[in-house]
Amino acid sequence: MNVYLDNAASTPVHKEVLEAMLPYLSTNYGNPSAIHSNGKRNKAAIEFSRKTIAKYLNCKAQEIIFCSSGTEANNMALKLAVENLGVKHIITSAIEHKSVLNIVLYLEEAKGIKVSYVDVNKDGTIDIDSLESILKDNNDNTLVSIMHAQNELGSINDIDKIGKLSKKYGTLFHTDTVQTIAHLPFNLKESNIDFLSASAHKFHGPLGSGFLYKNDKIKIGTWLHGGGHERNVRSSTENISGIVGMSTALKMAYDNLAADRVKVLELKNYLKQELKKNIPDVVFNEAKENLYTILSVTFPGIKDDLAEVLIKLDMKGIAVAGGSACSSGSIKFSKVLSKLGYNENETTLRISFSVFNTKEELDYTVKALKELC
Ligand code: PLP
Repeated sequence: MNVYLDNAASTPVHKEVLEAMLPYLSTNYGNPSAIHSNGKRNKAAIEFSRKTIAKYLNCKAQEIIFCSSGTEANNMALKLAVENLGVKHIITSAIEHKSVLNIVLYLEEAKGIKVSYVDVNKDGTIDIDSLESILKDNNDNTLVSIMHAQNELGSINDIDKIGKLSKKYGTLFHTDTVQTIAHLPFNLKESNIDFLSASAHKFHGPLGSGFLYKNDKIKIGTWLHGGGHERNVRSSTENISGIVGMSTALKMAYDNLAADRVKVLELKNYLKQELKKNIPDVVFNEAKENLYTILSVTFPGIKDDLAEVLIKLDMKGIAVAGGSACSSGSIKFSKVLSKLGYNENETTLRISFSVFNTKEELDYTVKALKELC
């Protein structure tokens, strides 16, 4: 049996998404900047996709900047905020995704930016009081960058509260919503979010397509210099099939959000129940507000090392995540879990779901995990 439970890493593309993309990989060629009708038709498809995404997030179409990934969107927001908006201080957390942590390190080392890290709770949320105390003592031009849901634990930060605090203290606010866009509703017009990053392959869209939301009031300048695409923020001939696939996936996700959420949550709760029944010492690493697509579980009874566990599960056709692969190919204990004080000698796995999973797959997975214990 093949069981794919690594949906927080990447999701299978919906059939309808693939169908929407195919014309732009076959018959509908034509550079969208061209004057001829092939080009104009493709330009129209891009703008229709932009409007679709904007409609579901309740923002303006021109606030959506298409790019290649969540990583690029995070880099674009933070680097341009420093280079073009005069940001001198970044407040973030030590458990952000690497695409935030590493650009922040770069900006600190190369541009002399001051960086403050808010305290984090063991459940993977940030300590709001710690954020406020940093903001209170701050006189610099500042950007707060805090993720919506932590990608290894699924713990959800209260971005409304963080946005309000940012506004109160006059800072910019960027949030990495790569794990939550198309899984939770957003109303950007009513939010205090200045920048938001998203990635299509986390919601059944294609790899290599993402976007940055940028509040219209902010002029961030140019990220990629060239022909002036994406309102001169990000030049390069558009990835039309990727953009169409992403907007189709986002539309499908929001049109079916309530039902999909119930289905996925039911799967998650079923797995928790069966794990507890079969392996009583399992520990679920969850925050009070936790994303329904992610379950982090610690198995004190598994004595193999992490790489062995993942390989043994893989040999049974089960894909889950744990730790991080390093360049030598070995698996290291997760830096995020380490920073949060989790025990390196215990196996913690991230199991992440989608609507394509079934209870039969979960039964099979529980059996395999029980054998490992
Ligand atoms: N931010 C978070 C929270 C993520 O989970 C990921 C990917 O796992 C990224 C950013 C990077 O997104 P992408 O894979 O599109 O570069």
